[in-house]
Amino acid sequence: MVVSYYRPTRVIVDLAAIKENIRTQQQYLAKDQTIFAVVKANGYGHGVLAVANAAQQAGATGFCVATLDEGIELREAGFQEPIFILGPIDLNGLIWASKYQLGLPITSLEYLHELIQQAKLLTFAKNQVLQLHLAFDSGMGRIGFRQANEIQTAIQWMDQAENMEWVGIFTHFATADEQGKAYWQQQFSRFETVLAQLPRQPKYVHVSNSATLLWQKPIGNVIRMGISMYGLNPSGTTLALPVPLKPALRLVSALTQVKLVEKGEKIGYGKTYETTQAEWIGTVPIGYADGFIRKFQGFSLLVDGYECEIVGRICMDQLMIRLPKSFPLGTEVVIIGKSKEKEISMQDLADYVDTIHYELACLISTRVPRVYVEES
Ligand SMILES: *Cc1c(COP(=O)(O)O)cnc(C)c1O
Repeated sequence: MVVSYYRPTRVIVDLAAIKENIRTQQQYLAKDQTIFAVVKANGYGHGVLAVANAAQQAGATGFCVATLDEGIELREAGFQEPIFILGPIDLNGLIWASKYQLGLPITSLEYLHELIQQAKLLTFAKNQVLQLHLAFDSGMGRIGFRQANEIQTAIQWMDQAENMEWVGIFTHFATADEQGKAYWQQQFSRFETVLAQLPRQPKYVHVSNSATLLWQKPIGNVIRMGISMYGLNPSGTTLALPVPLKPALRLVSALTQVKLVEKGEKIGYGKTYETTQAEWIGTVPIGYADGFIRKFQGFSLLVDGYECEIVGRICMDQLMIRLPKSFPLGTEVVIIGKSKEKEISMQDLADYVDTIHYELACLISTRVPRVYVEES
């Protein structure tokens, strides 16, 4: 989708906030621990390259992405730090993992067997061995080995195979952002048991997402830091942040039309809203094709510090709000961020549609330009 610059809808990302969030959390790192910035899904919608740059400046020494293609994008942009791909790749792309030196997760013996067969068909350049991380499923139920003895076998296979190196082991927690610690503890113990049985320690041991760093015991030497770097509370509102974080993302637009509509007139598709008196109606160029889903109907956006309800259905590219009075064309409309003394957080929006801020950040489509500032 082409990025649409000739309308006022913008994501504004404060890179200084991202850097500050990383630096504030460095106090939780042990001496031998380092941060890999998780920049999957276009840096959680913030824009991958700018975020990666900021993270690097703030001290991140590597990156995690979700797919092979995302890893290639970072390398093509010139990043030379270690990059780890969090999900199993299509083995047709194996040669790219070697060429671009992207760490891969090994999820099962079956997958490793196929990878070894595929690798035999390829010619690897010198110093381009495949870097493999064993995924251990300690209770997330998503990817990884569940049996310690299979991990032993996998290590033997990797040691025997050419052109590959076992560089890491990791797991992922399902409840690090929750109040109760029992399930987290159970996953942690399972992982520790597996660690203790390894024939040797690999270069990278990583278990920690943002929530594990902030509220649990972040063992290992790499922290996979995602959401907290963007300034959002990993738990939503369940757990209080032990340190203040600054949300880095704002979403703004502007009024493209303002009109006085008579009493009893209908607004939007399906005429779901009727004016109860003469009302000022403003049109805002953002819609569900921008990731601003129809469920936000009824939510209030901010214009000059006033809360203005979204009236009528949200269209693909535009929506209408009820204004308290007339405003000039081009007046700013805040969807996420501050307007005078009022503020809409990503959490407010997430609560309104019963989801999590992670999802909303990723939903903002590529049509919306990302603009970068340094404010904090
Ligand atoms: C996305 C992801 C992370 C980052 O999680 P946050 O909650 O955003 O810190 C870490 N590890 C894995 C395996 C992930 O998929």
